[in-house]
Amino acid sequence: MIQSLLIANRGEIACRIIRTARSLGIRTVAVYSDADAKALHVRQADEAVHIGPSPARESYLVGAKIIAAAKATGAEAIHPGYGFLSENAEFAQAVIDAGLIWVGPKPASITAMGLKDAAKALMAAAGVPVTPGYMGENQEPAFLAQRAAEIGYPVLIKAVAGGGGKGMRRVEAAADFADALASCQREALASFGNAHVLIEKYIQRPRHIEVQVFGDTHGNVVHLFERDCSLQRRHQKVIEEAPAPGMDEATREALCGAAVKAAKAVDYVGAGTIEFIADASEGLRADRIWFMEMNTRLQVEHPVTEEITGVDLVEWQLRVASGEPLPKQQDELSINGWAMEARLYAEDPAKGFLPVTGRLERFAIPSAVRPTRWLHEGGTAPMETAPQVRLRVETGVAEGDTISPWYDPMVAKLICHAETRVEAIVGLSKMAWSTRIWPVKTNAAFLGTLVVMPDFARGMIDTGFIDRHLDEVTADVEMPEWLCDLVAQRLASRDPAPATFGFRLNALSQTTVRFSDRAIAWTGRTDGRVSYDQEAYPIVTDEGDALLVTMQGATWRLAPERVSGGLGGAASDGAILAPMPGKVIAVEVAAGDIVAKGQKLLVLEAMKMEHALTAPFDGTVAELTVAVGAQVQVEALLVRVEKAE
Ligand code: ADP
Ligand code: ADP
Ligand code: MG
Repeated sequence: MIQSLLIANRGEIACRIIRTARSLGIRTVAVYSDADAKALHVRQADEAVHIGPSPARESYLVGAKIIAAAKATGAEAIHPGYGFLSENAEFAQAVIDAGLIWVGPKPASITAMGLKDAAKALMAAAGVPVTPGYMGENQEPAFLAQRAAEIGYPVLIKAVAGGGGKGMRRVEAAADFADALASCQREALASFGNAHVLIEKYIQRPRHIEVQVFGDTHGNVVHLFERDCSLQRRHQKVIEEAPAPGMDEATREALCGAAVKAAKAVDYVGAGTIEFIADASEGLRADRIWFMEMNTRLQVEHPVTEEITGVDLVEWQLRVASGEPLPKQQDELSINGWAMEARLYAEDPAKGFLPVTGRLERFAIPSAVRPTRWLHEGGTAPMETAPQVRLRVETGVAEGDTISPWYDPMVAKLICHAETRVEAIVGLSKMAWSTRIWPVKTNAAFLGTLVVMPDFARGMIDTGFIDRHLDEVTADVEMPEWLCDLVAQRLASRDPAPATFGFRLNALSQTTVRFSDRAIAWTGRTDGRVSYDQEAYPIVTDEGDALLVTMQGATWRLAPERVSGGLGGAASDGAILAPMPGKVIAVEVAAGDIVAKGQKLLVLEAMKMEHALTAPFDGTVAELTVAVGAQVQVEALLVRVEKAE
C-alpha cells in the first residue's frame, strides 16, 4: 500500500480523499491556491503546498507545479479527484514519467474515452449500443445539416471535447441548425480549445443512467450497479440516486454488462463511470438505453454507490493504485437499500440560480434526522418501527469559511441512505430543509422541495423534470405568520428579559416585537412565563442578540430592535407605545410633568378592557402625542418619558 498521497484538488473531494487516506494510515499532502490558503482541505491534510494564484489556470490546472509539490514533499502518489486535471491524459503521463503513482486509469484509456466521438466509435465496435447519430470527421456545416435531417429532429449538437454540461445545443428544426451549430462550435473552441462536434438524436423523455465500474491491474473488471442522475439543470446533475427507479433485473443485467464490456474495451483500471441515455417514454427497456460517454475518474455522485454497496470507492482506488486486486468479485457485490444525493450550491434559485459568495457565519447541516415512525399496515396492534435512515455530508467548508468566486459554488453534498426510496426521499428533504446556512444563500430549499414533488416520488423522472417544475421549486420561502408569532413568543418569554428589551410580562399582556424589516404582534396570556417547547421547534435558536430561524431550507436572522407592550411596561428608551389598537380614555399627565416610576400616565380602552399605562422610571414627560378620545394604532407612540439624571 502506498504510504503518502498528494491530492491535486480542493473542496469536498479533497477532504473526502483525505478522510479515507487517513483511515488507511496514508500521509496526505494538500495543494492550494491563494484563495484556499485557509481552506478546510489544507487544514485537514498532514502537509500543504502553495501552488499559485487563485485562478485555477495558474494553480490547480498547472500540472508541473503539482508534480513539483509531490516531489518536494516526498509524496508517492497523486489522486486527481474530479474536474481539474482528472481526465487529462498528458498530466497522468507526466505523473508516471516523474516516477509517481497515478491514482487513475492508464493515460491511454483516458485518451480513448476523452473525445466523445472517438469513444462512441470505440464502443460501437465493441458491441455496446451507442446513441444514434453522426460522429465523423467531416465538419462542413452543410454536410452536418444533412446528417441532422437524416437523424431526424430534434437533434443534439455536442462538442466532442465537451464536459460539465457545456458545449451542447438542442435543435428543434432544420431552420435553426446553422445558427446553433455556429454557436456550439464557438463555445466549444472557447471552452475546450476544440471546435469539433458530433450530432446525436435527441432522445425523448431522456433519463440519465450511469454505471459505476472498477478495474484492477490484474485484469478484473466489476460493476457496482447503476445510478440515476436524471434530475438536471442545464445538463448538470442536481439529484442523484442509486439504484435507478423502475429498473428491473433483466435491464440492469444488460446495462451493467454493457458497462463492463465498455471498460474492458479500454483496458480500464480504477474507478470509472459509463454514462447512458435512456428513452424512458415507455419505462426502462434494455433496447432503449444507449452509451453516451465515459468519465475516467471518480464521480461527484460516487457516495450513493458507496451507500448501497458498502464499498469505499476511494479505498478501492488507493488499493488498486498500489497494485492490489479488487477487494471484491462481482458475485460478492449487492444492492442494499436506497441512497440519494443532492448537490448543495451557494446560489439563489429565485434569481436564476445566480452564484453567491461570502462568509458562512452559520453553517450547519444535520447529521441525523429524527426517524419518522411508520405505522405498519395490517395487524391489530399498532406496530411502530423507526426506519434506518443514515445521513452523510460531504463538504469542503466549515462555519466561518468563505465561499470565494474562484471555483465551483458547490458547498456540500447531502446524502441519505434508507431501506426504501420513499424513506430516502423523506430523509433527504428533512436534511435539506433543516440545513442552516446564513447569510450566504443556498439552494437548500429548492433541493428539499424538489425531492418531495409527487412525480419525483413516483419515479416519473426525466432530464426535463426541473425545467418543467421550475416555478414551483424556485419560489422564495417566505417566513410564515405562525413562525413569526413563534419568534415573537420566544422573545416575549425570555426569562429574565434582557434589559435591552426593557419590558416585563404581566398577567395579561400583548407584546409587540419589531424587527428591522417586519413588525410582529403577538397576543397571548402569559402567567409571567411562556412555555416554549424548544424540542418541538428546534428551528428557532436564540443567539442572544438575535434569533435564528430555519424553515424549509431558508434561514432568517431576526434581530429585535424593540420589544414593547405589556401593561405598565415600556421600551427602555421611555417610549410608551400602544400595546394594541384602542381608544385613549384618560390622560393624567401633561408635557413637561415630572413623573415617578409606576405613576399612571394614561388609560387606553381596548378589547373591552381598560389598560393603564405607567411610567417605566422616574423622569419627565418629554412628549405627549395624544389627547382623550384619540383612536390609536398598535405601536403608536403615546408618551415619551425622559429618564431623570
Ligand atoms: P460528474 O459527472 O461526476 O457529476 P460533472 O460532469 O458535474 O461530474 O463535473 C465534475 C466537476 O468537474 C464539475 O465541477 C465540473 O464543473 C467539472 N468539469 C467536468 N468536466 C469538465 C471540463 N471538461 N472542463 C472543465 N470542468 C469540467
Ligand atoms: P457532459 O460531458 O457535459 O457530461 P454528456 O454527453 O454526458 O455531456 O451529456 C450531459 C447531459 O446532456 C446528459 O446527462 C443528458 O441529460 C443530456 N443529453 C446528452 N445526450 C443526450 C441525447 N442524445 N438526448 C437527450 N439528452 C441528452
Ligand atoms: Mg456526462
